[in-house]
Amino acid sequence: MIFLPTSSESIKQAAEILRNGGLVAFPTETVYGLGADAFNSQALAKVFEAKNRPHFNPLIIHIASIDTLEKVADLSLLSEERRQKLFLITDKLWPGPLSLILPKNEKIPGIATAGLPTAAIRFCDHDAAQKLISLSTGAVAAPSANPFGSLSPTRAEHVRDKLGEKVDMILDGGPARIGIESTVLDITNETIKILRPGGTPKEAIEKLIGHITDSSTTTENTVTKIISPGQLKSHYAPKTPLGVLSQKEIINQPYDVDNAFLFFDSATRDAWIKLQKPDKTAVVRVLSETGMALEAASRLFETLHDLDNCKVSKIFTQLAPQEGLGEAINDRLKRGSS
Ligand code: AMP
Ligand code: MG
Repeated sequence: MIFLPTSSESIKQAAEILRNGGLVAFPTETVYGLGADAFNSQALAKVFEAKNRPHFNPLIIHIASIDTLEKVADLSLLSEERRQKLFLITDKLWPGPLSLILPKNEKIPGIATAGLPTAAIRFCDHDAAQKLISLSTGAVAAPSANPFGSLSPTRAEHVRDKLGEKVDMILDGGPARIGIESTVLDITNETIKILRPGGTPKEAIEKLIGHITDSSTTTENTVTKIISPGQLKSHYAPKTPLGVLSQKEIINQPYDVDNAFLFFDSATRDAWIKLQKPDKTAVVRVLSETGMALEAASRLFETLHDLDNCKVSKIFTQLAPQEGLGEAINDRLKRGSS
């Protein structure tokens, strides 16, 4: 792991790491982020692996110029009225501690948004972060750079102590200026809502677009329960019923032309084919040929989406080995099954 103060040289090196699919922890004005190239699904899977989270959470996608917005969001899905409000907000409050929920561009992989059709997008107010993002692909997805269950890091040393060798590089920009997370504002729904209070006060937004609902006036717990998409059981369900099976169970699951089969690894698929002798037309997918959890996680959301469009009456899916990223994969599959 490389630990360097922010300088044009170290930022160039960090951008190179990001472009090559590595992880860089970087300062922003709110807290330190654990960044990966927002267009690279395997790099994004590494973020979840490093954080050791038992579930997938949608990440904030950082951009460093308003011109990049359409590379990460699909603004054509917003009404004219919403687009006007969006630009009133971005004109005055970006760059700043404000993340906006917008329809995602199809180039953003599903793992960045935990399968949601929307993404949280932010233009942060921090010189070094902006340089890093512009020198990379222009979009860096980052959650706070702390392991699951720890406090958000406000200094580079916090990241080094807690994540250490799990990241390729840490850029030290000194203590974070604001120290609390960004405000998350959802402007895609009928009622514009604050999903998480943070560094941008509600009043600053209301001055621009009028009254907004503050879902966070209830207790923080209720907010997380209702709003935070990772917590919603039903959010994770594909439209097609999903049956989750152990490796042994799926091998013994008889083939049916009306069902799709999703295997974790190719060895299990081959054992199933040998035993169940499916038709050539069977709908069969494998998350990772060699059974690598990182690759499986990076392909999970797109694969489920794809199977959901296959017009089968049920999807049988094999659970991942319950370790590392396998835990988050299984959490996703089990939520989908209920
Ligand atoms: P963090 O992981 O600390 O960077 O926090 C990101 C916040 O943004 C979390 O509260 C997420 O639930 C929220 N968030 C990110 N993407 C979305 C989305 N598409 N819809 C709703 N909330 C989101
Ligand atoms: Mg966090």
